[in-house]
Amino acid sequence: MSRNASAGRDGDDSESKELNRLKAFHSAGRGFWSNVPDADWNDHRWQLKHRITTLAQLERLMPTLTPEEHAGVMLANTKLSLAITPYFFNLIDLADEKCPVRRQVIPSIEETHTASWEMSDPCGEDAHSPVPGLVHRYPDRVLFLVTDRCASYCRYCTRSRLVSNAAGYDFHPEFDKQLDYIRRTPSIRDVLLSGGDPLLLSDEKLDALLGRLRAIPHIEFVRIGSRIPVFLPQRITPELCAMLKKHHPLFVSMHANHPRELTTEVSDALGRLADAGIPLGCQTVLLRDVNDDVTVMRALMQKLLLCRVKPYYLYQCDLIAGSAHLRASVRRGLEIMEKLRGHTTGYAVPQYVIDAPGGGGKVPVNPEYILNHNADRVLIRNFEGKIFEYPEAADGTPLLPAPREIEEPELV
Ligand code: SF4
Repeated sequence: MSRNASAGRDGDDSESKELNRLKAFHSAGRGFWSNVPDADWNDHRWQLKHRITTLAQLERLMPTLTPEEHAGVMLANTKLSLAITPYFFNLIDLADEKCPVRRQVIPSIEETHTASWEMSDPCGEDAHSPVPGLVHRYPDRVLFLVTDRCASYCRYCTRSRLVSNAAGYDFHPEFDKQLDYIRRTPSIRDVLLSGGDPLLLSDEKLDALLGRLRAIPHIEFVRIGSRIPVFLPQRITPELCAMLKKHHPLFVSMHANHPRELTTEVSDALGRLADAGIPLGCQTVLLRDVNDDVTVMRALMQKLLLCRVKPYYLYQCDLIAGSAHLRASVRRGLEIMEKLRGHTTGYAVPQYVIDAPGGGGKVPVNPEYILNHNADRVLIRNFEGKIFEYPEAADGTPLLPAPREIEEPELV
């Protein structure tokens, strides 16, 4: 065996070891809360009540807080609040300043560095809002914002102008007005409940809202967008699942960015949703030093399948003000997609999209697989770089008749 071949195999072995390490399921454990009774720890209300929301709490729990993080927390309450459930806090590697979980939820002073192309409403939602809390951008579907609260706050949140109310947006959804618009607009057949996190609503309130939506004859399909399965798996109770089950067809789009977020607790919670017959998809945001790595992304996507979740979208991080330190390049995103398609199960390959800045909607972006396309043929390449031709006519004959005689250049 040549030295290079051996080096290549060693590289494959170490990559596969790393992949398996990332895909292993672990419990988040109890960490600082080892004395809390099980009944409290497993109660989502206890988790919400004991969230880490202040600098003093964070300093006590995290002696390794960096000066940038310290300054970021000081300013968080004017931009996007700090909140982390004790459960999710346990996933942070306190010894690692670059911990991928830490980067997502611990504020940094870098959030105050804004560029002229960054926006407070990068997807132009407010401009497409016929009534407060409803975004109608695509013809047959609406985004229905139900709350401005989340179990924990993501530092790259595209809706940070609104969620947590730290920036003073003062969001007060009025379900009657939102439902009335949907009722009056028969072209709407699909409603996505989002926020904030809809699963923070009580079972009763969510049940009533879903029931009112289901009573509208032209509503075929309802989705719930939520990061609760990852931030607060304790909220996915059997009672919640039994209630959701009444409102089929109902999908849940969860949100996970790193394989470490998929713990045994999360896997169990997702299993309860799946057992209730709820199709599960995942939205992932491409984030620098969190998941802009082929092995990490592959592990995340494969681990989602193990949790019975179909990876749905990989989002290019929106141009939200103060997110430059968390944004990876589109080039990096394409490189990662190139290493997923064909290299792993098709179900594990999400659609990479850019939400067009200013409100153009989601635009799929893919590595280039079509090398040439004319009336007769399409020239394609596969994941290994091999090139193939596919005829446009069903019987393989050229669509354009060949010229009867070739004009000799000298006669022209
Ligand atoms: S859970 Fe969703 S809405 Fe809430 S902060 Fe994170 S990204 Fe934003």
